[in-house]
Amino acid sequence: MSEQRMNEPDVLWLDPDTVQLRQPKTSHWEAPFLYLLFGRERALLIDTGATTDEQQFPLRATVERLIAEWLRRNPVVFVRPYPLVVAHSHAHRDHIAGDALLRDRPGTTVVGTSPAEVIGFFGFRSWPDETVAFDLGRRVVDVIGGPGHEPSAVVFFDRATGILFTGDTVLPARLYVRDLAQFRSTIERLIRFRDDPTAPVRELRGAHIEMSTDPGVDYPAGTVDQPDEAELALRPRILDRVLSALDELRGTPGERVVRRRFIVVLDR
Ligand SMILES: [Zn+2]
Repeated sequence: MSEQRMNEPDVLWLDPDTVQLRQPKTSHWEAPFLYLLFGRERALLIDTGATTDEQQFPLRATVERLIAEWLRRNPVVFVRPYPLVVAHSHAHRDHIAGDALLRDRPGTTVVGTSPAEVIGFFGFRSWPDETVAFDLGRRVVDVIGGPGHEPSAVVFFDRATGILFTGDTVLPARLYVRDLAQFRSTIERLIRFRDDPTAPVRELRGAHIEMSTDPGVDYPAGTVDQPDEAELALRPRILDRVLSALDELRGTPGERVVRRRFIVVLDR
């Protein structure tokens, strides 16, 4: 197996219009998950991975291949170049490094990573309390303000699949809380969103797996071999458990609250 081959992302079609990609551990230990959502008028790529080197992680080639494959199956979509919007769960390095690989792709818009750029692009008037709709063409994604782990963080809800893409905010991993008040407000906002019957949330998919299948046991940062990883998808009720874990924090930097599926870490 060549090195390039080893570093190919793991590609999983969640449905005929939705791809989950994972940067492999052989390419970067963070092994973040990325998502590509296809609509009639444009595609949305959520996050671009941890490296700027196409040899180390062939993001551009993979995205081009997936778009070509989807367009072959959807000949009714005739706009060329097929537009691609590259947005981010948040601005940490391991989620935006690959932007450089896509910036010069024809028809591509790379959303900036500052809060002002995210607010401006999606058209938030009341950040972060408002939810704004982003239309991919017969497919609407709700964009929910999500600061707390990082100031420009957002959560995407895909109405087509019922998946809430939660980035580094809720995931089977260490939930690094940088701003406790904002993080708590974000979880409460997600709970209100989940409890709204007009937007049925089926599951949550975040950007990393750091938990093992042993309840409450995580793999330390830097781990490359994770043979007993927990599952990525979380049930919507996990949000209540995150809120109750946040309530146990007493404010000591580095403090951890351990739950079966995640660990809250006060990171300040
Ligand atoms: Zn992060």
